[in-house]
Amino acid sequence: MQHPIELCRNNLHPAHDKTKTGQCRSCSLATDKAYKAKQRAALELVRALEAQGVHVDLDTMALGTDPGATPEAVAQSIVNRFGEGIE
Ligand SMILES: [Zn+2]
Repeated sequence: MQHPIELCRNNLHPAHDKTKTGQCRSCSLATDKAYKAKQRAALELVRALEAQGVHVDLDTMALGTDPGATPEAVAQSIVNRFGEGIE
């Protein structure tokens, strides 16, 4: 009987293709890509708000008119807090 090919944790890729830390290379690339897409989406949101003179407070995430943190910092904070829900 033939052995089935061993797959990665997510059953998507051959298990032998791993990074140094033992993660599936293909899965971690996909995760990385998704994360970067979230960062981009958040940054676009922050920039769109700022274009309307609306700024996000980095500590409270409240909207206001005072420019505080850089758009990049605000975007990262949004991803950290709400990243699970950002597509
Ligand atoms: Zn995988």
